[in-house]
Amino acid sequence: MNRKTALELGLKTYTSGTDCKHGHKSPERYTSTGSCVQRHREIYSPRGYQRAKQAKTARAVQTVVLSFATGSLLAVALLVLWRAAQ
Ligand SMILES: [Zn+2]
Repeated sequence: MNRKTALELGLKTYTSGTDCKHGHKSPERYTSTGSCVQRHREIYSPRGYQRAKQAKTARAVQTVVLSFATGSLLAVALLVLWRAAQ
């Protein structure tokens, strides 16, 4: 069913039969906005919110670890250079 038909029938949600851009297989979509119901649930459910928050924290930790590793590598490289210069 397409969105136009759903609008004409006055349905709140419809299934378009096409995958949404977030990777959900032929999800239910809101007729009013055409956006994916599944996605909406993931964003606004407490669990989805928690997951999004966790993912954000994990990314932040990864960035810190990565910059620390890069920093150590730089320190080692400088030490090697300094030693070589002696
Ligand atoms: Zn979706």
